[in-house]
Amino acid sequence: MLATLAVPVKNESARDYTLQLADSSENIAAIRKLVAEQLAPKVTDVDLKGEYPGAFLRALGAAGGFRGAMAPEFGGNGLGLKHVIEVMEEAAKVCLSTGFLTWCQTACARYLQMSENQALKAAFLPRIASGEILVGTGLSNTVKSCDQIEDYRLSAKRVDGGYVMNGVLPWVSNLGPTHYFATGCPVEGETRGEEGLVFVLVDCQLPGFKLVDCAHFVALDGTRTLACHFKDSFVADAMVLSHPATSRAYVSRIKPGMILAQMGMGLGLIEACIGMMKQSNKTHAHVNQFLDDQADVLDTALQEARAATYALAETISTDPQAEAKVVLDILKLRLAGGELSLKAANAAMLHMGAKGYLQKSPAQRRLREAYFIAIVTPATKHLRREIARIESCAASCAAA
Ligand SMILES: Cc1cc2nc3c(=O)[nH]c(=O)nc-3n(C[C@H](O)[C@H](O)[C@H](O)COP(=O)(O)OP(=O)(O)OC[C@H]3O[C@@H](n4cnc5c(N)ncnc54)[C@H](O)[C@@H]3O)c2cc1C
Repeated sequence: MLATLAVPVKNESARDYTLQLADSSENIAAIRKLVAEQLAPKVTDVDLKGEYPGAFLRALGAAGGFRGAMAPEFGGNGLGLKHVIEVMEEAAKVCLSTGFLTWCQTACARYLQMSENQALKAAFLPRIASGEILVGTGLSNTVKSCDQIEDYRLSAKRVDGGYVMNGVLPWVSNLGPTHYFATGCPVEGETRGEEGLVFVLVDCQLPGFKLVDCAHFVALDGTRTLACHFKDSFVADAMVLSHPATSRAYVSRIKPGMILAQMGMGLGLIEACIGMMKQSNKTHAHVNQFLDDQADVLDTALQEARAATYALAETISTDPQAEAKVVLDILKLRLAGGELSLKAANAAMLHMGAKGYLQKSPAQRRLREAYFIAIVTPATKHLRREIARIESCAASCAAA
């Protein structure tokens, strides 16, 4: 690492930045090696047998893969959201299920990091950072309900020392008997809307709570995506991330970063698809050239999307107040990420031809996986609706 610092530095802050870059690229190189050695051989089992890559996730945690999501005092590496996204990319280049599980772990860690519950942060964040505790995020329904797309599926009632929760979340990933996940729902008697929500960290062993394995998917089936049933489940105040009085501010702190980080899945998958196209062109360029989407054009779009993602990640990490100002840019970028994933996976399939149609070919797997990026919350239709809503609000405010 010191060799990198042989470059003269003008001042201390430039020196800090150079050190950070060196730390980050060293760590990403180690993670790339881990992915090649421990994840790549398992990909077909994850995809076709629905095998959960739990051992890999713990190894990724031990290698520092989750440490961009929390502050240094809680086990973080100080590299922020950009590092989180780069790690996710490395996993997603090989296996989208694992890329998504990396998002689940780091998204939940960020919700904790953004909470004002210091005791909860101190108790959980270092163990989530190391991969000792694996965590998920059950916020699709909360986000969709906040955006008035569907009704809340959970409800909470304030009682002495905590909340009693009821309801069912149909799909939450990265779960198991020893796991935890974050979710949020309205509290009876509080104002409807973002100001009346409670956000909690749920222990999967909570009395009155059970996990039900009831859905199987065409891809991402190795993500341990389970239904979460709450029946008069008591969640103590100690596990609360945000109470109703602070929930609106909490939502605006967590939501932009949660959505932006999903770009790590798309960037990794797109790069892998372009790689397949280039590989196929070594022998079939004479005929592949007649296809609509070519590797060089997709590559340019990928580089632009990556640069925009990293720039927004840096903005969010260095200035948490900036999140509200960059929301529209993030929604548009995330929409483009889903659309480019579908385009790249479709192009890779067409380039690969029958070879890509084999059951164990990555080309057809990438196509199934790409649809997940476009449908997981916020889905393409959800993003388009939110962008239209924000832009029409801005237009009517400007006209008034
Ligand atoms: C593999 C996978 C992993 C996921 N992991 C997570 C996760 O970790 N955390 C999380 O919060 N969400 C997760 N989701 C949910 C996801 O983010 C979306 O919210 C979900 O796919 C529904 O989005 P949609 O756009 O289809 O919804 P819409 O088209 O808006 O609506 C779908 C409708 O189906 C209903 N519905 C939902 N579930 C079921 C069901 N099981 N059976 C019947 N109807 C149902 C909904 O109430 C809704 O009315 C996961 C989904 C998948 C496929």
